[in-house]
Amino acid sequence: STASPVSLVTGGNRGIGRETARQLAGLGHAVLLSARRPEDAERAVADLAPGVPGTLLPCRLDVTDADDIHAIARRVEEEFGRLDVLVNNAAINYDTSQRAVSADLHEVRHTLETNLFGAWRTAQAFLPLLRRSPHPRVVNVSSESGSLELMSGGAPAYGVSKAALNALTRKLADELRAERILVNAVCPGWIATDMGGPGGDPVDQGVAGIVWAATLPDSGPTGGFFRKGEPLAW
Ligand code: NDP
Repeated sequence: STASPVSLVTGGNRGIGRETARQLAGLGHAVLLSARRPEDAERAVADLAPGVPGTLLPCRLDVTDADDIHAIARRVEEEFGRLDVLVNNAAINYDTSQRAVSADLHEVRHTLETNLFGAWRTAQAFLPLLRRSPHPRVVNVSSESGSLELMSGGAPAYGVSKAALNALTRKLADELRAERILVNAVCPGWIATDMGGPGGDPVDQGVAGIVWAATLPDSGPTGGFFRKGEPLAW
């Protein structure tokens, strides 16, 4: 067991996940930086670890693979006995059709498998360890593309997956409210990553709102949808 908060970030090898792991380790957390390819996790940790006071631990976690998730949960249980922060960041945005009427449903299913079920099964697997934290926090990295108010445009599989992730956020938050586990959805904004492309804001700006939700005080909100700490329309 360790006095430092223990955090797990999915898709931590690049983009927003990598910067989230860096910033949490910057706050002194012990961060499990997970990636679906172990060499990618190791490379990210080698790059980031010299610059941060916290510990970064590389691990392999494909969010579509329940065995991976349970293996990491066992490792966290053995090494730390609890999990304080879960950041469900991993996602894909591969829509080839911009219209639901012509979407390839195999592609939609694949997107939901990663963006919705990935977060769902990770949250389920880590719940016993989150319950052992004094200040458990779950952050579901979502998108304004999942806002029902704005659903009229954009990629259908991705948008539906993020709307469903927002709904899951509300469900989990309600069910876990009495246990004081704070669960929120956060849109990072348009951020310059492989997914976002070159026009977005710098990655550290998108991550500020994720770190905010990951480090909320006990009096903080749960079941919300935020960008930069401000509520967004569902
Ligand atoms: P990137 O495409 O740059 O990175 C995505 C990350 O998710 C990669 O680490 C990728 O790993 C990982 N990943 C994908 N599938 C899996 C899987 N099955 N198991 C584990 N990891 C997986 O995206 P961003 O950093 O831009 O996005 C991060 C989050 O922010 C996502 O949830 C995204 O929807 C959200 N977001 C981003 C916005 C933006 O403008 N960038 C805007 C709104 C929301 P690998 O390297 O192996 O592919």
